[in-house]
This record gives sequence, C-alpha cells and structure tokens, in this order.
Amino acid sequence: MEKEKRTHKAHCIVLPFPSQGHINPMFQFSKRLVHNGAKVTLVATRFISKSLLGDAGPIAVETISDGYDDGGFAQAGSSGTYLERFRVVGSETLGSLIEKLKSSGCPVDCVVYDAFLPWALDVAKKLGLVGAVFFTQSCTVNDIYYHVHQGMLKVPLSEPEVVVPGLFPLQACDLPSLVYHYGSYPDFCDMLVNQFSNIEKVDWVFCNTFYKLEEKVVEYWMGKICPLRTIGPTLPSAYLDKRLGDDKDYGLNMLKPVTGACMEWLDGKPNGSVVYASYGSFAVLEPEQMEEVAWGLRRSNAYFLMVVRESEQAKLPQNFKEETVEKGLVVSWCQQLEVLAHRAIGCFLTHGGWNSTLEALSLGVPMVVSPLFTDQPTNAKFVEDVWGIGLRARADDKGIVRREVLEHCIGEVMGGDRLKGIRSNAMKWKNLAREAVDEGGSSDKCIDEFVAKLVAW
Ligand code: UDP
Repeated sequence: MEKEKRTHKAHCIVLPFPSQGHINPMFQFSKRLVHNGAKVTLVATRFISKSLLGDAGPIAVETISDGYDDGGFAQAGSSGTYLERFRVVGSETLGSLIEKLKSSGCPVDCVVYDAFLPWALDVAKKLGLVGAVFFTQSCTVNDIYYHVHQGMLKVPLSEPEVVVPGLFPLQACDLPSLVYHYGSYPDFCDMLVNQFSNIEKVDWVFCNTFYKLEEKVVEYWMGKICPLRTIGPTLPSAYLDKRLGDDKDYGLNMLKPVTGACMEWLDGKPNGSVVYASYGSFAVLEPEQMEEVAWGLRRSNAYFLMVVRESEQAKLPQNFKEETVEKGLVVSWCQQLEVLAHRAIGCFLTHGGWNSTLEALSLGVPMVVSPLFTDQPTNAKFVEDVWGIGLRARADDKGIVRREVLEHCIGEVMGGDRLKGIRSNAMKWKNLAREAVDEGGSSDKCIDEFVAKLVAW
C-alpha cells in the first residue's frame, strides 16, 4: 500500500523481552508513537500472550514464538537454552509475521526491538526495514555493559574502584551484579553484553531515561558512541504530561492487580504514613531475605502495603499477615503507579528495578533501595549518592539485608534527619521528569523526530 493512501504515518512493530518490566516501558512508548500518528503492532511471545490481561487500546497485538509456547522460560530448563531457542525460533516467526502483515495490506516500516533481543535487528535489516533499539535499563548501566563488550572494562574485575568511560569512578560493588560477581548468571551476562553485538547497523537508539537524569553519560554516548535518544520516563501520561486523556495504567498486566482493597486501605491512612514495599515482577527472594523484609517492615512501626507475588507468599513468616493486620496489608500484585501516587505513601521499599526507580522518581516518592541483582545495585547507588532521593539498604556478608538495616533506612526516609534533603531532591527530580516529557521537552522532541523521519523515509 502506498504511504499516502494509509490512514497512519508509519507502521512500527514493537518487540519487548517477554517480562513485565520490559513490556511496560515499550507498551507506553508505543502509545506515544500512536499519539504521534504511527500505527503500532506490539509483539508478544505466544506463551506470554496467554497471560496478558488488559486492553491494548489502539495498539494491535500479534504473537511470535520463543520456542516454548506452552511454558515459556520455565519450560526451557536453563536460561542459556531459552535464549538460544528464542533467537532461532523468534527470528523465523518474526520474519513470518512481518511478511504476513505485508501481504495483509499493512506493511511494516520499522522494528523497535528490546536491546535484549539483538537478533530482531538482523531480521529487520534482511527485510529492508528501519531498525530501532530500545534500552529498558539506564544509560549508565548500558555504558558499563558496552565497555565490557568492547573489552575496555575487563572482567572479572581486578580493582575495587572502576573507571568506565563516560562515568565518574565507581566502587566495583556499585556495578551491575552480573559484572561485579562475574560468572554469577553467565547466560544473562552474555545477553546483556551482546546487546551491542550489531549496534553499528541500527538506525535509532532509544533509552528509557531523560537527558538531565544522566546528563554526563548521555552526552558521552551522543558524542562518542551513537546518536542516542532519551525518550523516558515512560510512565502513563496521567502521571506526567497528561496529554493522553485518562491514560493511568500501563495497560497489559501479567498478574491481576488487587486494586479496590489497596486503595480503600490507603484512603484510611494519614498523609505520608505508609511504606509501599515491592520487589518487582521477577525477583525470587531467599526465604531468609523475605523474613527479614517482613520483620523490618513490622519493626519500622510505620503502616505498610507489601506486594508479595502468589508464588512467593509461602516464604512469609507464619501468621505474619494475621499478626500485623493492624499495621499492614499484604497483596499479591497492585497497580503500582496508582499506589505510588497516593497521598498516604511516604516511602517506597524497592529492589530498585529501573521501572520502579523511574516511577518513584517521577512521582516524587523517596526510596529505600534494597538491591538484589543485575542493574539494581547501580540504580541504588544513583538513588542515594547522585540524585539524593533515598537510601540504599546494605546487605551483610551473607548477602542478606537485615531487619535492623531496613528499619533504620525506613526510619530515616520516613522521618529522620535526612528527610528534608531527600524530600526536596525528590521534588526537584519529579519536576525535571515532567519537563522531559512535556511538549518540547528533551524526550518529547526525540519521539516527534522519530515519527517525522519515519514518514519521510
Ligand atoms: N508493578 C506493578 N505492580 C506491582 C509490582 C510491580 O504494576 O505490584 C510494575 C511496576 O510498576 C513496574 C514493573 O512492574 O513497572 C516492574 O519493573 P521493574 O523494572 O521495577 O522491576 P522487574 O520486575 O523488571 O524486576
């Protein structure tokens, strides 16, 4: 079909890695593309698509195969086996999907793919399409993996302090755990390092961050590595620029949120009195760590709303829910943004996943970050020492963050000596996040430019 006869400016396929923390930002980015006049088809794996709840609105959803249509990642047995089969079967089925869309009269112009899936660029290039990589982690973290890929950051690390081009000197323990504890999850580490395996062929590079948040490293990338575009933070519009009507939720959930009960419970609590605690969609806590988190929350003496996924609930101390009913509510999943935006929330106890970090930062919620692995230690370092919007709860020699540490950090963030400084920084970053996505802001301009150039292409 000729471009001029189409009802849309361009057709993009958007392919996230199949997990909630990747679907959310890429789905949100898709909404912005649609708002700018593009057509978007979001691509999920067949397995994940069966558990996606919600309404994709104007975004079409299609599926490809990761080779494990009945059980996904868990069916593969090992991460290495999963990732390799996803590469092979994913490439084939993505190619077939693009051909199908072409013959059904809606040809694809561009593939926006998750940086974890660089093979999608090879598919796009083979079919003569524009390729755009989307990094769902911070620019700092990408910079670290990039230099591992280039052999400029040698692993295993040999020094306690590390100088990575584009960044200020970092303690080794502030680097992503896959680099600091090199060999801990070798297949995932390879995947993260290989994000850059074909980057020289890509047409667009997007990162879910905003210019002022990581100015120095973003400048370094723009000047020395590639024309990076910052397009974040990718929160639903209602929480930032408010341009997309009542866009309050990401839209596609892999777990069913408990919404009414959470909101009613929060409505009954005083302003800033509740700790919201969640370790994200993916983390599997050591049973000992789960106990420490539970008792740390109890000892803080604050109200708490704790998310513990169904599969993790058996690790809670016996009778914990019953014994803490006066102070706490434990749910299996919630609408995190709605919770974070509630006036009763005073602190977010988080594992420091990049989405959770950006969400709290964009909503001005102070954080206690208790990082587990991957990029979370680096995010925790920035929360505490660079943006000054929270504290990092440190683990002991066994790698467990103890209840006393959590109690202390929560106490400081909810009402200790540091509260004033943390609150004023949180407000500053909240405003800067909003400016980035507001009309004419750094992230807004990048999205406008992308769609305009796709039309001209
Ligand atoms: N989230 C949610 N409800 C919950 C917990 C988490 O909607 O009860 C969302 C959260 O808003 C975020 C995503 O799940 O967008 C988690 O992503 P993140 O990068 O923080 O961590 P991951 O799950 O990838 O470790």
